Amino acid sequence: MPLDTRIHAAVLTLLLSAVACQATAQDSPLERLRHYVEIDTTNPPGNEARGVAYLANVLDEAGIPYQTAESAPGRGNLWARLEGGELPALVLLHHVDVVPADGDAWTTPPFTAVARDGMLAGRGTLDTKALGIAHLEAFLALHRDGRVLNRDVIFMATADEEAGGRLGAGWLVEHHPESFAGAGFLLNEGGAGIASAHGTRFQVELAQKRPMWLRLVATDRPGHGSSPRPTSAPARLVAALERIRTRPFPPRVVVPVRRMFAGIAAHVGPPWSEPFADLDRAVGDAAFLADLQAAKPHLHALLRNTCSITVLSGSAKINVVPPTASAELDCRILPDEDAAAFRAALEARIADDNIRIEPLLNFAAAASSADTELFRLLERVITRHHPAAPVVPTVAGGFTDSHFFRELGIASYGFAPFVIPESDLGGIHGNDERIGIATFEQGVAIMTEIVRRFAGEDTP
Ligand SMILES: [Zn+2]
Repeated sequence: MPLDTRIHAAVLTLLLSAVACQATAQDSPLERLRHYVEIDTTNPPGNEARGVAYLANVLDEAGIPYQTAESAPGRGNLWARLEGGELPALVLLHHVDVVPADGDAWTTPPFTAVARDGMLAGRGTLDTKALGIAHLEAFLALHRDGRVLNRDVIFMATADEEAGGRLGAGWLVEHHPESFAGAGFLLNEGGAGIASAHGTRFQVELAQKRPMWLRLVATDRPGHGSSPRPTSAPARLVAALERIRTRPFPPRVVVPVRRMFAGIAAHVGPPWSEPFADLDRAVGDAAFLADLQAAKPHLHALLRNTCSITVLSGSAKINVVPPTASAELDCRILPDEDAAAFRAALEARIADDNIRIEPLLNFAAAASSADTELFRLLERVITRHHPAAPVVPTVAGGFTDSHFFRELGIASYGFAPFVIPESDLGGIHGNDERIGIATFEQGVAIMTEIVRRFAGEDTP
């Protein structure tokens, strides 16, 4: 191709991609979701500023003021506030970043939003751009209504959730507390409608296990691999790890987990329904715990503190006994666990003065109550749209950005207003992530109803 033709082609491509990302006021929620999914915000590196630019464009067209801030180059965050009365503000939070996608393992290109068989496929459809667009649509509707609100409503889109949120929600908490000033309530990812062979249930997440990430460092005399001494740093480390592996922490049923298992008992089928409904008895049965860990490790993990051995390092050379060896442990403790007591229990298993513990990450204890006006409103609106689906408060084994806000006393709920078939849950962080178009559109209506009623159109 001659040079000038190539330049023209390049300019045309640029123009087309600019048009593709251009918001127009007439866009439907589905078109907005398609645009948003097609903006590659893979973390790392994130590039959330691209997603923020799109959201800003939509808000500009609607005439809604907003603010943006980058925690690092390209790591965009956005927040916008509709002002209302004195009641505690509601934050609508989602994250702009997505996890990497291996295009070769996908049926469709991950950053092309492909509609097929009533589904929209693309990275971020479930985690968590559909939720972001549902929040955005509710926020735009509230602005269009033009009514007096009883509280502020804040739309917030953040970077870096998939890497722990230190450059996103955590950064806003530290550097821009004005972004959520006056907030008493927050809606975020973490729960959704789940359709199984036994029916549909809506899970609303209100507590999480807390990470207590640690590094164990063993030290001892170095030497030559041909002349082993009675002890060494690697041998000490391996022995301590074996004690941790073979002495699991005792099961303990905390209140929200008991309620969650009772709530999903009818939806899990045999052989789980019966023990889930009588969890306190079931956890006394070692065979039940072993079977549950094998079949449903994410639910087993809610019944005790756990430690996964993940990163190991020792000598770089086969014939050198190193002076130190280390292991990283991904421990997760129950929502109300006493961190000092847990550490003491871990030290009792390590039982070696030549091994020191370095803390890497831990969160304070915090959970949200189901006894709030917002939780009751979620129940009412979900039940109106899905009369057969129970609303189950749940505890998550992993963590989301909600912990940053729960620690500040803001009642935070993990809730996406969509129904996801159990078989599609693997698409979250996996391949062929997709969302049903009909449930997405219904979810936009549900979220809009919730936000409208919570901001003042609800008169109980
Ligand atoms: Zn997510």
